[in-house]
Amino acid sequence: MPKPFSFSVSNLYVHVPFCAQKCAYCAFYSEASSGELINRYVNALICEMELVAADLKPRTIFFGGGTPSLLNLRQWEEILRAMERLNLLGAEEFTVECNPATVSTDKAKLLRDFGVNRISMGVQSLDEKLLDRLGRIHSREMVFKSFDTLRRAGFDNLNLDLMFAIPGQTMEIWRDTLNEAVAMGSEHLSSYEVIYEEDTPLFAQLKAGEFDVNEDLACAMYEELVECSTAAGFQQYEVANFARHARGTNGTLESWGNETASGQHSITPPLHHSIPVFACRHNVNYWRGGSFYGLGPSATGYVRGVRTKNWSNTQLYCEQLEKGKRAIESSEELPPLRRAGETAAFGLRMNAGWPFEQFRETTGHDLRAEWAGEMNRCVEQGWGQITSDNFKLTRQGLRFADSAAELFLR
Ligand code: SF4
Repeated sequence: MPKPFSFSVSNLYVHVPFCAQKCAYCAFYSEASSGELINRYVNALICEMELVAADLKPRTIFFGGGTPSLLNLRQWEEILRAMERLNLLGAEEFTVECNPATVSTDKAKLLRDFGVNRISMGVQSLDEKLLDRLGRIHSREMVFKSFDTLRRAGFDNLNLDLMFAIPGQTMEIWRDTLNEAVAMGSEHLSSYEVIYEEDTPLFAQLKAGEFDVNEDLACAMYEELVECSTAAGFQQYEVANFARHARGTNGTLESWGNETASGQHSITPPLHHSIPVFACRHNVNYWRGGSFYGLGPSATGYVRGVRTKNWSNTQLYCEQLEKGKRAIESSEELPPLRRAGETAAFGLRMNAGWPFEQFRETTGHDLRAEWAGEMNRCVEQGWGQITSDNFKLTRQGLRFADSAAELFLR
């Protein structure tokens, strides 16, 4: 008789495919939608949870989107009560993405009461004109107000998500946003360069010649990001992710560090000495090639060597689940070497790179045997550094992590 949970999956991603309106740069699967479809989605999601619950004992949970905070109190309560019934609560890290325009005290308290202990807030910019340019629904004031609301509700692990190289963003504007953001005292900071995805309004504007891409400025902004966040006490642990080793500060509140209902603090010691305590454990699992279930429309999952992808169509997703079936559009069993190549590529996004032993334990392949040529090429280009027990990208290499990673794909 197998031991309960001995092989269960410990990471869960849930996609919430609704937004108040579509942002100009966004290619994620999400739609502006009515209450009725959202109710139907909530029921379908609970069905999907029921189908996988026996194989799931989450250590990390991440509700992303879309805009998960768009769900109303009743919809959230239905989902969280179902998770309680299915023994899916109690994760050491439970993140929900929030848009600053959709945070309320009641919602924050409800999430906190059910064990959500990390909020990732999509800020993007603190410049009103740029927020408008991006089609964001929130103002800069809402960012500060929501941050305060979340702290008061007891959230002591907050991420702010920023964006740089936005058309019209000067270095001065970027510096102001960065300085104001780090002064807020969050535990985590993520920052991505704007990507021009096909079928987005921003891409169409670029093609129409309404603005130019300035690569040098984008590089300088990235340098500024690394400098500024490091000076403010963050440690970079991945190309676009920075975290603190201890709680951040908030100049406006004397005490905000609540414990969970059980009296235990939710953050456990670091996964590795080079990864800060407040690193996002859920994402570290992706970069380290771990398994995870992905639920909700368009979500991908990776369980026991099989990658699955759900339909990127909320109606179809609901129809399938209403018939009692998972809404999987495709599934693929990756050959071990190909999977190992992807794992190498993902892991190199982390500052810690790949300890050779850890890579071998994860993939069954030896980085030094299979990818010696690629590692040497990175070193020659100034992108990589090999030591006796690991391989990692240099600061310059991290800036070109996507190109470096491509070398390792098989
Ligand atoms: S809120 Fe996020 S998911 Fe929704 S449209 Fe904007 S960027 Fe995309």
